[in-house]
Amino acid sequence: MLSIIIPVYNEAKNISVMADALKSIVHHPFEIIFVDDGSTDETLQQVRLLANDNDNIKCISLSRNFGHQNALMAGMEFARGNEIITMDGDMQHPPSLIPEMLKLLHEGYDIVFTRRRNNENQSGFKKATANLFYRFLNVISDTKIEPNVADFKAFNHKVLSAILRFKERELFIRGIFSWIGFKSITIGFDVQPRHSGKTKYNFGSMMRLALKGTTSFGFKPLRLALMIGSLISLLAFGFAFFALIQYYNGNTVPGWASLIIAVMFLGGVQLLAIGLLGEYIASLFIEVKKRPLYLVKDLLNLDDENRK
Ligand code: UDP
Ligand code: MG
Repeated sequence: MLSIIIPVYNEAKNISVMADALKSIVHHPFEIIFVDDGSTDETLQQVRLLANDNDNIKCISLSRNFGHQNALMAGMEFARGNEIITMDGDMQHPPSLIPEMLKLLHEGYDIVFTRRRNNENQSGFKKATANLFYRFLNVISDTKIEPNVADFKAFNHKVLSAILRFKERELFIRGIFSWIGFKSITIGFDVQPRHSGKTKYNFGSMMRLALKGTTSFGFKPLRLALMIGSLISLLAFGFAFFALIQYYNGNTVPGWASLIIAVMFLGGVQLLAIGLLGEYIASLFIEVKKRPLYLVKDLLNLDDENRK
């Protein structure tokens, strides 16, 4: 069986369009698991309408908005298929690509990643920041994370059980997927315009995702802070030596400029390093609390025994 996992947050007008598109494309047994991520519009009612008529349309309704990554994890914990597809619920990920993805799974690939080929349907700002972020992430992390890879993926149950062994709270699923290995292939697709509604990723949530990706996939930033810190301390030491010589030679000038520059520069670097440490401590803090990733309010056509 194929499990299609779709996190939805305020996508009321997209639900039936998605379900219809999937039904017309996938011909073998499948279940659609909508994860209602605390929607405040009619999303849940729309899913309920479909679920009433069709046992294969299922829903996990979360108690509040837990974010796209956690919603995906909820879906994966309930998925029962031996093949799994995750996709967005706004028609930006074309269902027409699914047959090709399944074919590749049958040919022996464990994961089929997809990469956005065109970017016209994304704003220039988002493109630029995303690019920058992935470049940065690859510099600082030991795990290679491909840019432009979408949360539109197909994988088999081996990969699913690997993913479910990750118990970390600070989820960055894209990073996890490239960390686990397995035989994978990446295919390109054209992002479609959003069917209805607007994007839920604003600048703030993109920044949060970027920080998550940074702190959960590498210690290099900490090391970098340490290295810059050491270098600057060394320079400062040299400068002090130089200043002392000047002093004994009676060449001292008011020197306000150099002083203020040194103080500000050092202060800046220190703040940077401390801020960075703070980020790691914050994610440790979240990690040690071991809070649940999501809480379920309601299940449609599913029960708790389905949960892995
Ligand atoms: N989404 C979610 N929870 C959130 C934000 C988004 O489940 O807190 C879902 C959303 O409904 C959509 C998918 O995640 O199905 C991708 O979100 P969106 O289309 O807003 O992102 P974009 O395509 O603009 O990157
Ligand atoms: Mg979208």
